[in-house]
Amino acid sequence: MTTLDALPLRQELRDRRAYGAPQIATAVKLNTNESPFPPPQALLDAIGESLRAAASDLHRYPDPDAGALRRDLAGYVSQTDGAEVSAQNIWVANGSNEVMQHVLQAFGGPGRSAMGFEPTYSMYRHLTLGTGTRWMAEQRGDDFSLNLIDARRAIVERRPDVVVIANPNSPDGGSVSLEGIETLVTAAPGIVVVDEAYVEFSAQTSATTLVERHPTKLMVSRTLSKAFGMAGIRLGYLVAHPAVVEAMRLVRLPYHLSTFTQAAARAALSHHQRMAETVRLLIAERRRVTQELTSLGFTVAPSDGNFLLFGSFPDAAAAWNRYVDRGVLLRDVGIDGHLRTAIGSPTENDAFLAASSAIRNSVPTRRPGT
Ligand SMILES: *Cc1c(COP(=O)(O)O)cnc(C)c1O
Repeated sequence: MTTLDALPLRQELRDRRAYGAPQIATAVKLNTNESPFPPPQALLDAIGESLRAAASDLHRYPDPDAGALRRDLAGYVSQTDGAEVSAQNIWVANGSNEVMQHVLQAFGGPGRSAMGFEPTYSMYRHLTLGTGTRWMAEQRGDDFSLNLIDARRAIVERRPDVVVIANPNSPDGGSVSLEGIETLVTAAPGIVVVDEAYVEFSAQTSATTLVERHPTKLMVSRTLSKAFGMAGIRLGYLVAHPAVVEAMRLVRLPYHLSTFTQAAARAALSHHQRMAETVRLLIAERRRVTQELTSLGFTVAPSDGNFLLFGSFPDAAAAWNRYVDRGVLLRDVGIDGHLRTAIGSPTENDAFLAASSAIRNSVPTRRPGT
C-alpha cells in the first residue's frame, strides 16, 4: 500500500488528518449536531416534486446565480431577522463550509491571515490550511467565553485580514452579544465573518441586522444543516453587501451549486414554519437535558445551540467509549475532561441521560480544577 508519505504532497499538508467525526453505527447518534427528525411527509413530497420538475432541465447547467433560491433566502432572512436583505445580499454554496472557503479564497490566501478564538469550530483552521492563509489562534477563557477586551486587543495588535467568530460558538454553545460583535467589527482592520450555523436556537438578534452599517467589513454565514434539519442537502449561505457577493463570484467554480441542490433547498425553505416548531421543541429539550445532567453532578456549559459541552470526566476518551458501549455516539472534541452531545429527540435524550447516569455512578467525575 502506498502511503501519503510517498506522495509529493504540499509541505503544509504533510502529517495532517482529514477532518471528520468518527462514525460508528449506534442506536443513538448525537455526534454531529444534526436534527434528530427526518423531514416530515409533506416536505418529502414537496422535495420530490421539486426534484422531478428540475430533472427535466438536467441537460442544461444550473442557474449559475441561483437567482430564485437567493430571493427565497433573502425573504426568509428579512422575515425572521428583521434585517433588510435582498437577493443581491445573498451568496450560496455547498454548505457554509464552502461559503467559508470562498471567503478565505477571496479575502485570505497566501501572505494573509485569519484569526479565530479557540476552542472553536476546527474547520476554520483546516480551511486556512487549504487556502494558504496563516491561522492566528487566540484563546477563549477557561469557561469558553470570549473576553471582548482581550479579543479586541488581539485584533488591533495582530491585524488579521479575516476574523472568524462562531456565534453561538461550537463546541460550547456560548454567544457574544450583538454589541460585542460590533466592537470587534469596528476594531478589525479587515473583514469579520460571523458564523451563525446555530442562530435559530439562540434568543439573540442575528448579526445580519448589522451588515448594512458595516457593508465592507461584516458578513454572516448560515446553513440549512442544523435548525432546518437538512444536513444532507449541503446548502450554506452568506448575508453580506452586494460587493462581497460579487467577490465570491471571482473564486467559485463554474456552476458550483447543482440544479438539485437549488431545487431541494427552495422546497426546504418553503417549510420553515415547521422548522421553527422543531427548534422550539429542541430548545425545551436542551433545558431539560441541562438540568438533568447538572443534577447528576456534571458541569454543563451554557448553550444557545442544539448541543451541550459537559464534564468533567477523568478521561474523556474512555468515557466516550463507555457511551458507545451503551449505544450512544457523542463527540470527543479534544477538550480535557469534556464531551459534546447534540440535543436529540426526547427518546434519544432519555437514552443519553440513562447512559450518563450509569457512567456517572461507575466512574467518579472530576471536580473542576482538580
Ligand atoms: C455544523 C456547523 C456548520 C455547518 O456547516 P455546513 O457546511 O453548512 O454543513 C458551520 N459552522 C459551525 C460552527 C458548525 O458547527
